[in-house]
Amino acid sequence: MEPSSLVEAARTLDCIHCGLCLNTCPTYRLTGVESAGPRGRVHLMRAVAEGELEADAGFAEEMNACLLCRHCESVCPSGIRMGTMMEFTRGGLERHGRRPLWSRAARWLGFRLVLPRRGLVSVLAGALRLAQRSGLVRLAPALLGSRGAGLPHLPGVPPASERGALPARTPAQGETHGRVGVLDGCVMPILFGRVNRATVRVLAACGFEVHSPPRATCCGSLHAHNGDLEAARSLARGTIAAHEDLLDLDGTPAPIVVNSAGCGSHMKEYGELLADDPAWSRRARDFAARVVDFSEHLAASPDDLLDAALSGRSADLAGPVVWDDPCHLCHGQGVRDQPRSLLDRVSGAERVDLAESESCCGSAGVYSLTHPEPSAAILDERLTALAATGAKTLVTANPGCQLQWAAGVRRAGLEVEVLHLAEVLGRALDD
Ligand code: SF4
Ligand code: SF4
Repeated sequence: MEPSSLVEAARTLDCIHCGLCLNTCPTYRLTGVESAGPRGRVHLMRAVAEGELEADAGFAEEMNACLLCRHCESVCPSGIRMGTMMEFTRGGLERHGRRPLWSRAARWLGFRLVLPRRGLVSVLAGALRLAQRSGLVRLAPALLGSRGAGLPHLPGVPPASERGALPARTPAQGETHGRVGVLDGCVMPILFGRVNRATVRVLAACGFEVHSPPRATCCGSLHAHNGDLEAARSLARGTIAAHEDLLDLDGTPAPIVVNSAGCGSHMKEYGELLADDPAWSRRARDFAARVVDFSEHLAASPDDLLDAALSGRSADLAGPVVWDDPCHLCHGQGVRDQPRSLLDRVSGAERVDLAESESCCGSAGVYSLTHPEPSAAILDERLTALAATGAKTLVTANPGCQLQWAAGVRRAGLEVEVLHLAEVLGRALDD
């Protein structure tokens, strides 16, 4: 194997070793070790690309310990693109079989077999709920050893009545002002069906006709983050094909609204993901330009649509509210002000600031499952910041963050409700 086929050397050359990124990096803050920070990771990638270091198990471990939170990108004066570099590097590790056999088998089952198939996700979620309710899942580490250690940490599956896909079409309430597509997703309908329904409900109340094509499934973000770029490209093509024909009322391509920051950030980069595919590169670029976060779309819509929907209503919230910036919303998409401005328009949501709200909560896709101890330690720092605010509601916009914070506040004994932004707006509409 050519080292340069594992790491794209050109991308690593931008780093000027200034160190400005170090204290933004959750793994560097945790360990104080250079190789566990952005600058060290870039150095290791460059050493492999230049043939000075073997891409051995130690190298793979350092690469897999990165949360892909992209906080380092937001402060880097050289414009380093850690997310893309890391996906490329992990893609190389994946292609060249640098993982243990059991790990490759588990990833094939999870990423290739299950996630793209809604029916299978649904059946397995039902089985997992049974195992969780019966207590069987707590025996997994004893039965499976270290390979079953992550199972008790899997999120609680809600009852069947709360799971399920969105309707293919939801009409606008009152006069129709526009038409949008909404990504239903792969695990969202299972774990966060209520967030998806709140998203559609808010959009419809603001005068948008909402389409969610049943044949769309997983956007492929988890696959890309974990180096399975082939599957990520295949799922990107499927997502584009399912949504791209939707037109707005004026005949222009309709916006595609995404309520999961990780998915939205990834879908906005479809153009780059499929750049080398002549049949899809233009379609991918055009589609990516239509992707908007839920908060971005509402904040860019005429003020009177949301204000009219919220008029005379107030959200039933226990006390002060904090906004937690999901990494893939602030660092990945540059969306920071819109969620705050929306929260400030909800009567009953008294917003207070969360210190270092752009710092990662430690969720990071499957990181909280593959690295439970550092993930919990990273979250502990964030929980201390949350406790200092006195907030009773934490609002965020990514399923992984929502699960991570909810588990954290339970563990810390904080009386804080964790909600998605769409749930807060939906709650106000329910008033
Ligand atoms: S992406 Fe996050 S975890 Fe990875 S090097 Fe950058 S700051 Fe550190
Ligand atoms: S901030 Fe950017 S240029 Fe500076 S050390 Fe970090 S990655 Fe390198």
